[in-house]
Amino acid sequence: MGKKILVLGELRDGALRNVSFEAIAAGKKLAGDGEVVAVLLGDSVQTQAQLMIQFGADRVIIVENEKLGHYTSDGFSQAFLSVEAQEKPDGIVIGHTALGKDLSPKIANKLNAGLISDVTKIEEGSDNVTFIRPIFSGKAFEKKEIVEGPIFITIRPNNIDMLEKDEFRKGDVKSIAVDIKDLRTIIQDVVRKTSDGVDLSEAKVIIAGGRGVKSAEGFKPLQELADLLGGAVGASRGACDADYCDYSLQIGQTGKVVTPDLYIACGISGAIQHMAGMSNSKVIVAINKDPEASIFNVADYGIVGDLFEVVPLLTEEFRKI
Ligand code: FAD
Repeated sequence: MGKKILVLGELRDGALRNVSFEAIAAGKKLAGDGEVVAVLLGDSVQTQAQLMIQFGADRVIIVENEKLGHYTSDGFSQAFLSVEAQEKPDGIVIGHTALGKDLSPKIANKLNAGLISDVTKIEEGSDNVTFIRPIFSGKAFEKKEIVEGPIFITIRPNNIDMLEKDEFRKGDVKSIAVDIKDLRTIIQDVVRKTSDGVDLSEAKVIIAGGRGVKSAEGFKPLQELADLLGGAVGASRGACDADYCDYSLQIGQTGKVVTPDLYIACGISGAIQHMAGMSNSKVIVAINKDPEASIFNVADYGIVGDLFEVVPLLTEEFRKI
């Protein structure tokens, strides 16, 4: 029998993040013959509804309220729970982003539901669904099934393929009013430290620099290659600690977890804490002067050499394509 799955659309700077479309694809797998209902929360989100339909949502429910202009767990949980109470879904899918990691446990707690977080794969068996998630900093994978209660999962960005966009797809879009009680936190302003480039956690290509980059200036050739490939620049904590770049670029156990199609590690030794954030990348290329560097243990392609020679050569070659 088909299920009804509620999916949260997540916006950044007024545009939907790709993880929203990946959540719809995950929702479709769980819904079977049922329906995927997308939820959009914000102060002005109407324009994004059609996109959710085009990427596979069957219906969209919009909650617009000035208290939802900036994300707060207080405001978003009130709005989401009100939609949940009206729709009574069989399951919920939310992106495992900073927002999703904050919001989902609160919702699960209010619904008295279990939560399987950071899902990277959904396997459909004949009479059950298995959720796969990395554990121990990506060194092992755990398989989980839900035996009782509603389905509630968060999905790691860039792991579940979104459906193909269908510009002719139609679906119902409905706005509902929700009475949001006074918020305990008022966000006055959001100051972003990173530039407006490609979002690191959703980037398909990441060029990451470590202490081997040696200075902030040393990141320039990496940025050039990232721009050429439509990717983003990331960093090890070594590079952040040395003040070569901002901590918002840090990848690893205490930084961002990324799963790009291509990860090029430049002057990064491959400490276990760094690998926890990038070892599930689809293709890993490591550039390091030291042939014994641990990063080569997880690399699909290794280049032993000076990054200041190798990276410009790669850029030159990619320019020819
Ligand atoms: P190094 O280990 O110093 O390596 C630099 C590499 O650059 C070397 O392999 C060297 O051979 C190479 N190199 C130098 N010059 C060149 C050149 N010209 N061309 C090519 N190669 C060159 N680290 C993270 O990254 N992310 C985390 O989230 C994180 N969390 C942590 C949490 C905890 C609790 C702890 C204790 C540590 C954490 N760390 C984290 C730190 C981690 O242990 C390492 O110290 C850090 O990853 C090292 O950064 P690095 O590889 O850039 O530097």
